[in-house]
Amino acid sequence: MNPDIEKIIVFMTFDKPIEANIIMSKLESNGINCFLSDENIVSINLLYSNAVGGIKLHIFEKDLIEAQNLLMELNELEVEKESGKIQCPKCLSYNVTKGPSSKKRYGFWTILISFLFFIYPFKTKNVYCCFNCGNEF
Ligand SMILES: [Zn+2]
Repeated sequence: MNPDIEKIIVFMTFDKPIEANIIMSKLESNGINCFLSDENIVSINLLYSNAVGGIKLHIFEKDLIEAQNLLMELNELEVEKESGKIQCPKCLSYNVTKGPSSKKRYGFWTILISFLFFIYPFKTKNVYCCFNCGNEF
């Protein structure tokens, strides 16, 4: 076997064509050559995804470390976007999290309707909660 031929490996597999394309375009925009296989058959019918083992994203083996580092950076960016950047309107702290409300923000009619239709009224509504002052907004 010719050692000069670059080995191509499967870097990741995906169930959804959209995810595969997002990752592929990120790698490509950072100069990593890659291509997808089995994309078409999965696009036609998502049920085929299991049959063919998902959509495969191939890269050159020499790019593996770079691609992994890139993905890690992307994940960190996502995490940064998820947390922070939201400010408490009361104390202006950025120490804010998103989660289900602890307050019961239900009026008379909500409770009455819930009661009539046997719906549990305290479905969680996600709100931002400030760790600093306990404000929910
Ligand atoms: Zn606050």
